[in-house]
Amino acid sequence: MDVREGFIGTVGRTPLIRLAGLSAETGCEILGKAEFLNPGGSVKDRTALYIVRDAERRHLLNPGGTVVEGTAGNTGIGLAHICAARDYRCIVVIPDTQSPEKMERLRLLGAEVRPVPAAPYADPNNYQKVAGRLAQEIPNAIWANQFDNLANRQAHYETTGPEIWHDTAGKIDAFVCATGTGGTLAGVSRYLKERERNPPVRIVLADPMGSGLYHFVKHRVVKAEGNSITEGIGSSRVTANLADTLIDDAVQIDDQTCVDMVYRLLREEGLWLGGSSGINVAAAAWLAREMGPGHTIVTLLCDRGDLYAARLFNAEWLAGKGLTPKLPTARHHGGTPV
Ligand code: PMP
Repeated sequence: MDVREGFIGTVGRTPLIRLAGLSAETGCEILGKAEFLNPGGSVKDRTALYIVRDAERRHLLNPGGTVVEGTAGNTGIGLAHICAARDYRCIVVIPDTQSPEKMERLRLLGAEVRPVPAAPYADPNNYQKVAGRLAQEIPNAIWANQFDNLANRQAHYETTGPEIWHDTAGKIDAFVCATGTGGTLAGVSRYLKERERNPPVRIVLADPMGSGLYHFVKHRVVKAEGNSITEGIGSSRVTANLADTLIDDAVQIDDQTCVDMVYRLLREEGLWLGGSSGINVAAAAWLAREMGPGHTIVTLLCDRGDLYAARLFNAEWLAGKGLTPKLPTARHHGGTPV
């Protein structure tokens, strides 16, 4: 029998998907790890699970306890699922600028949503800082603190990295992905760099415009330029999770390139994915061209497109941002196009 134990037993062990069109075009094997197949729908299920488990092991979180996090995105969704499965109360503090759909989704999953006015990170009323204070005030509560809680990168060191190594049978030349908290890149980099391989697996950070990390990798100073429609990625600081991570190179991907890739994946591969996956796959294609044919390059397909229906998949909204997806020409197999 192959049976998994509930939501928690279903997190991880996602397949690697070979992207046929891009692989043929570049002469490399371009593989996307299907994190959108996690039960809560994203790569962040792994982080949410490790944060809760770590707090349980250290007796910071006990039966009947509460998990508090400041997040508008996938970590909140992952935590809400896990809290439901483990019978914890879940409180999500989010800026009131976030879409009503996101708040509704979290409430549906049983989380208490506390919208607060948007404030910059340095402000004590920033949503993450409000979440930290709230957790201190409530007995038997933890602040998940995904940016600086190292249980986040440990999830990827113990699961995502080993799965990639195992599923490629060690035949991996490079790994590339964008970062939000940095947990994924940091955990995967640590695991792959420790493997016996000559040359070592090349680790590349993909960055959207408006994030300061491209400049950090290239020049050791965080500096941002421009902006991006992508959500959940990009950073204005080096988090505890990302600190001291071996990163060999970085590439910047602009929104037009990202949008074109998202629509190409939809039409060419039948994969409906979010913007961070567009950044990741565009970066993998860039890396394939830079490294030349014959290499195996792995990236992540972080979440599904449905969360972004009103934005990335809304032509009017895109046009308002000056973005028009370049659609690949239709390919008709096994018949004459009519
Ligand atoms: N893609 C999406 C859609 C995300 O929600 C996140 C997490 N915020 C990431 C990528 C980046 O992952 P990490 O936090 O591990 O850097």
